[in-house]
Amino acid sequence: MPRPRKIRKIGFQPEITGFKPVGDIETNQPIVILTLDELEAIRLRDLEKLTQEEAANKMSISQPTFYRLIESAREKVAEALVEGKELRLQGGDYKMAQMEMKKFVCLQCNHRWEVLYGTPRPNNCPQCGSTNVHRAPEDRGYARRGRGRGGLGRAAGPGGGMGAGAGGGRGPPQW
Ligand SMILES: [Zn+2]
Repeated sequence: MPRPRKIRKIGFQPEITGFKPVGDIETNQPIVILTLDELEAIRLRDLEKLTQEEAANKMSISQPTFYRLIESAREKVAEALVEGKELRLQGGDYKMAQMEMKKFVCLQCNHRWEVLYGTPRPNNCPQCGSTNVHRAPEDRGYARRGRGRGGLGRAAGPGGGMGAGAGGGRGPPQW
């Protein structure tokens, strides 16, 4: 009995529809179709560097399903690159995730807000202007548990806050 294909959630849709090889191109090469859920798998795992578990969760699929998806994706990309085939980005069993948002929290006033993915990291809290803003812990796949002591009272050091790499090891605030 065929299992129904599970719909994958994707958080990114490309603006381009494909890639064409440059150079001495063999004619009548078959076109490689990379589906948008396969593209998303590559984006999450190879570009965003999520773990397989995090990436699978993001796409609302099981890890084995994610594994098959990314294996297929990588093979297609390799085939296109190595054999000089046109790669087209289309199709797949997916639905767009509801507006991917990044969540932030201000450790000064506890204000929480969201910004759209792709917009730059905010430097200041929109409410109190503090630079002591951090990615909300529940929003980080890699949030470490059990280290969150005393985020709240900490003064923002000079130059702190700006561009601190995600996952910079600061404990999440307590609430
Ligand atoms: Zn604030």
